[in-house]
Amino acid sequence: MKERTIHMSEQSNIQTSSRRTFAIISHPDAGKTTLTEKLLLLGGSIRSAGTVKAKKSGKYATSDWMEIEKQRGISVTSSVMQFSYRDHHINIVDTPGHQDFSEDTYRTLTAVDSAVMVIDGTKGIEAQTLKLFKVCRMRGIPILTFINKLDREGKDPLELLEEIEEVLEIESYPVTWPIGMGKRFQGTYDRFEKQIEVYRGNEESLFVNFDGEHVTDEVAEHINEGMLPSLMDELTLLNEAGNEFSMEKVKNGTLTPVFFGSAIANFGVQSFFNAFLQLTSPPQPRKSSIGEIDVNNPEFSGFVFKIQANMNPAHRDRIAFVRVCSGKFERGMTVTLSRTGKKIKLGQSQQFLASERETVDEAYPGDIIGLYDAGTYQIGDTIVGGNNTFKFEALPTFPPELFMKVRAKNAMKHKHFDKGMNQLVQEGAVQLYRTPFFGDYILGAVGELQFQVFEYRMKAEYGVDLEMIMMRHDIAKWVTGGELKDSMLDSRVMKVEDREGNPVLLFENDFVYRMFQDKYPDIKLSSVLEL
Ligand code: GDP
Repeated sequence: MKERTIHMSEQSNIQTSSRRTFAIISHPDAGKTTLTEKLLLLGGSIRSAGTVKAKKSGKYATSDWMEIEKQRGISVTSSVMQFSYRDHHINIVDTPGHQDFSEDTYRTLTAVDSAVMVIDGTKGIEAQTLKLFKVCRMRGIPILTFINKLDREGKDPLELLEEIEEVLEIESYPVTWPIGMGKRFQGTYDRFEKQIEVYRGNEESLFVNFDGEHVTDEVAEHINEGMLPSLMDELTLLNEAGNEFSMEKVKNGTLTPVFFGSAIANFGVQSFFNAFLQLTSPPQPRKSSIGEIDVNNPEFSGFVFKIQANMNPAHRDRIAFVRVCSGKFERGMTVTLSRTGKKIKLGQSQQFLASERETVDEAYPGDIIGLYDAGTYQIGDTIVGGNNTFKFEALPTFPPELFMKVRAKNAMKHKHFDKGMNQLVQEGAVQLYRTPFFGDYILGAVGELQFQVFEYRMKAEYGVDLEMIMMRHDIAKWVTGGELKDSMLDSRVMKVEDREGNPVLLFENDFVYRMFQDKYPDIKLSSVLEL
């Protein structure tokens, strides 16, 4: 028999189709870390778990360059976790939450193909979940929901579904359904597999077939009889009054499959993840200046979605996070930076950033690699391996919600000040605005920690002490149309310019913003401007 040779492109296709790259979105304390840990346990080779380790075992990542991180006991950096499970190659891209919530958190969502939304069953939808959900929704990626903490007395499951549909404006389809909760928690019913996953505390789950109508001896043996009538009623209700399942809607992110479980008890996690692999797609084509770029395109391409500086205090290096979109990445390959046309040899690369850095020799669409950067890259940059250069669709800019007036305490340091401002702003964690006449600097950020990090780094890396004054404004809108007049402005509506000189209005609050819009409907305002 003649041996069949597998061509490189074919090999690459196999690699790509087995990949799943996703983020977990949630409000702090919903159980994201716990769920991540349980998912990593499922995997064979665990390739680090940066944030997870850092947070849980107190073993800190290499990023001790920043005192703030240590003081707060949180990881400012986000990391990528990789593992393999059932012939799939999984990449979880961490979305920093808590106080380190920032524009980076949002931008990370542009580099994933699907999202898992973790909801605390005792609390329902919370603020941060909503914000992150909106970004996923904008991208039209599949969103799967894991309702956590079933081992505790929580909200009524039907109410939770209603909340998802009303607050998030997305259809829901419960794939599993809880049988009791808290002390009476018995397990979940899987509507696809037609089986009950029996909750047995610390012991592994047991699976029992159940058609949803006929109670067999086996079912009766494991589930408290008193619970069965209400389960059957609820299943009938879901079948008759609930949404129909549609794979198409899952794929375009207009219907979220819902699962119930308890991350801490490791209950329902594996069945959820098995379903996840079925319900999500491998990396998809991405829009570019020359049309869609297919993942099976043999030429390497990727884009920079995050830049992180000074992981190592001994070096002034930065790391550019690149999401691979097509072809195969190989260490040492030469790529073209589309923005400048410059050729770059990718000598030093790493697969993830955390306590252990590991050099990566090859990567496929869906993977995320870290490239050493001496100031070459900008957020949103496209790099391509072939001769055909193009640019991927621009990444959206997310509007800051906090603003600070900033200047150097020592006016003599203005050169260092300007340099630091420009370099740090380039990383994208904060936005820079200037006032029109005096050219005062105003920083805008999504989260407050960003300012502290900024202040710290200006001092540590550029030797500049900052004077920072928090402003009362909390909304920024780009002016995209209409004729803005000075008479429209006052202390509550301030005009500034972004880094490119585009006009931006800062409003004191939502009320002031609405009043302004009512009064001057011809002025077109937008909270998103493509980079
Ligand atoms: P994160 O902030 O979303 O990463 O949440 P964590 O995973 O750190 O969990 C927050 C808290 O909730 C911790 O005290 C966890 O032990 C707890 N927790 C997580 N999952 C569950 C669960 O399924 N049931 C219960 N009762 N507690 C949980």
